[in-house]
Amino acid sequence: QKGQIRVQTENIFPIIKKFLYSDHEIFLRELVSNAVDASQKLKTLSSIGEAKGEIGELRIDVVLDTKEKTLSIIDRGVGMTGEEVDKYINQVAFSGAEEFVNKYKDASIIGHFGLGFYSAFMVSDKVDIHSKSFKEGSGVFWSCDGSPEYELYETDYNDRGTKIVLHINEESKEFLEAARIKAILERFCKFLPVAIYFSEVGEKKEGEEEKPINNTNPIWIKKPSELAKEDYEKFYRELYPFGETPLFWIHLNVDYPFNLTGVLYFPKIKQSYEIQKDKIQLYCNQVFVTDEVKDIVPEFLMLLHGVIDSPDIPLNVSRSYLQGDPNVKKINAHITKKVADKLEEIFRNERSSFEEKWESLGLFVKYGMMTDDKFLEKANKFLVMEDTEGKFHTLEEYKTATEASQKNKEGKHIILYSTNPVQQDAYIQACKQKGYIVVKMETLVDAAFINTMEMKWENVSFVRVDADIVDNLIDKQEGNETVLSKEETEQLKELFNINFADLHVTTEVKGLSPESAPVIATRPEFMRRMKDMAGVGGGM
Ligand code: ADP
Ligand code: MG
Repeated sequence: QKGQIRVQTENIFPIIKKFLYSDHEIFLRELVSNAVDASQKLKTLSSIGEAKGEIGELRIDVVLDTKEKTLSIIDRGVGMTGEEVDKYINQVAFSGAEEFVNKYKDASIIGHFGLGFYSAFMVSDKVDIHSKSFKEGSGVFWSCDGSPEYELYETDYNDRGTKIVLHINEESKEFLEAARIKAILERFCKFLPVAIYFSEVGEKKEGEEEKPINNTNPIWIKKPSELAKEDYEKFYRELYPFGETPLFWIHLNVDYPFNLTGVLYFPKIKQSYEIQKDKIQLYCNQVFVTDEVKDIVPEFLMLLHGVIDSPDIPLNVSRSYLQGDPNVKKINAHITKKVADKLEEIFRNERSSFEEKWESLGLFVKYGMMTDDKFLEKANKFLVMEDTEGKFHTLEEYKTATEASQKNKEGKHIILYSTNPVQQDAYIQACKQKGYIVVKMETLVDAAFINTMEMKWENVSFVRVDADIVDNLIDKQEGNETVLSKEETEQLKELFNINFADLHVTTEVKGLSPESAPVIATRPEFMRRMKDMAGVGGGM
């Protein structure tokens, strides 16, 4: 049989090539996913008795032949009859180029999922299909060189399943390199549910043990009750071979009102480390889709690591659509709630361990409180602030402990904080003498956190430990004796005035001045914040 592929355009393939220009490598994901689908279908049919006899080992082979310049994807799944090839391959699922363009013009955003079989033409001069259905009948051969003409005839191909042979084109030579193919398989097929083997024609060494490139049974599809701590840690290393052991994890497992599985890990974060985003991988039924999970995972949780897998996230639509998608919104809210619940659980049950991890956790929690009011509500209970003595206080605990001494004229609770306990030690010591509690706010997010929480927390005002208004907290007292003579003090004051022109320099030693500090330079809190906000991130 010879015929024309029924699309109402002269040639659809240049359009496919043009639109998918940037992301050619996904052809392999599409073809391997089809092979997985065909294998799974056979398994299902066999289990309900519709496919008779032994189905044998279901495996997928990806075979590179550099001499022939072909790449083949071979499965032992359901296969196709001639009729099925005509129906599923020839009657292309779109009626014309225009519709195709409309459907896929935004698809570049999240990966071109669903483009399917025809993505093979992005990298091939010619594509052949050899297939033999599990049903009665002979084998079939289909071939197409990228024009709308194809060949289709019966053959004696007798291996149940399908073999797709890509004759790789000149511009796509890169896909004739074994390392490149392996890397793509590693990326997209690492957790597919059918074993995938890669081989190169003529490269097989005697006695070498075959190993599939994928783990067909990743932990996120298992029940949490079947898994131990070691399993989660092992899987983490599978995802990030060079990663440090994560602090803890959350196993997501929802089947209503949407499907979502996955494991999210809280990584160790040190202040000095560069923060790495894009560490969460999105899968759809174990097929890797993307590691850009913006909109699906709340922004403040993009620092987490791990995988989420959901068939309910629309994958071939644009970002703007994704944001408004009701499932995506629900998934986003669900993840936020799960994370908050887990943090609260650890805080309640293992407070000391929670505090030990706070250096890493604090960043997520603060970022989340600033950006997500639902999270804020929950996190108010478990946010802790570490004081300069190493003791941790929740907001309520801090308020209670300082109730008597740290309120301003309007009755607001004053949270005294230090952005640099070493530099600000003199002030901290002075506060300590007065029985005040100074908390450390020295990390990346703290400046913004303070500004946001002053708006969100009622009755709370943050005051930096070296601000002039700290003095107003307490009754003015007689000055302490200083260690310098009057003359020396004047000289020092002069020096301060020259060097810190925008500070308020005084020798009037008030209640807060430590004995060893004869001159005190303070900057009004207001001015300091203006400065902090002007110089992005600097100046604290
Ligand atoms: P989709 O996978 O979304 O259905 P594709 O374009 O990838 O779209 O594939 C079109 C159809 O061709 C499939 O639905 C299936 O019926 C058939 N097909 C493709 N590859 C195979 C295969 N390896 N084995 C059996 N059938 C296949
Ligand atoms: Mg497909």
